[in-house]
Amino acid sequence: MVYPVYSRRSRGLSIGINLFPDRKACSFDCPYCEVFPFKNDSAFSLEVMESALRRTLAGLAPGETVRDICFSGNGEPTLSLDFIPAAKACLRIRDELVPAADLVVISNGTGLLDSAVFDFLRNAARGASHLKLWLKLDAGTEAWYLRMDRSAVPFGDLTAKIREFAAAAPFIIQTMICAVDGKSPPPEEAAAWEALLLDLLPGLTGVQLYGKARPAPEDPLASVLPAAFLEERAASLREKFRLKFSNPPVVEVFP
Ligand code: SF4
Repeated sequence: MVYPVYSRRSRGLSIGINLFPDRKACSFDCPYCEVFPFKNDSAFSLEVMESALRRTLAGLAPGETVRDICFSGNGEPTLSLDFIPAAKACLRIRDELVPAADLVVISNGTGLLDSAVFDFLRNAARGASHLKLWLKLDAGTEAWYLRMDRSAVPFGDLTAKIREFAAAAPFIIQTMICAVDGKSPPPEEAAAWEALLLDLLPGLTGVQLYGKARPAPEDPLASVLPAAFLEERAASLREKFRLKFSNPPVVEVFP
């Protein structure tokens, strides 16, 4: 439910919050997903989460810096009915105990189709709460989206909501680059993805391309692509941003 981890994308100590200690719950079915199927009798409790978070922060070694408190865990955190109350509780505890830390929400974006979640994230991301939203956007075309994310949520609905959010509040895009069933993303996919990202300013502040670093239950359906492939995609995107914006979003690669 609450777990400290060294995060390569946070570049330091991250305190994870898992709203699904009992099962995987997600609106995507990514073939590269690292969450192995499981089921147990644990149940999420807001009170237990709050006391575990306080205990974890109090137990850190002197001088240890917490980069963020991060909602991720066994699925899509915004699917949980506890998501908004839990995020508010974490913001309170963050402000009290580790005010320099970010509150990060890692989401596949489908929660933005829920108006309560959309409003909460928008207000928290652009207000004094300094909530950081990291949104997954693995594809620029519906065809690749269906391969990478295998979701029933229509691609057009999802991207329309991300565009709406981009007009209102800041966020980072995370894109997994891997092969599926031995096939890399085709050239037209990269072009469509770039066009989509170019349309997400002013909200888009950063892009993280990441590779498949850990095993997944469906391996070898999803497989690693060379770091050079990711670097090429990043360089091409940086150039498109540079030509269009004076203050372009930062593009990073985590192979
Ligand atoms: S969105 Fe995340 S948790 Fe959900 S299936 Fe994909 S990788 Fe797994």
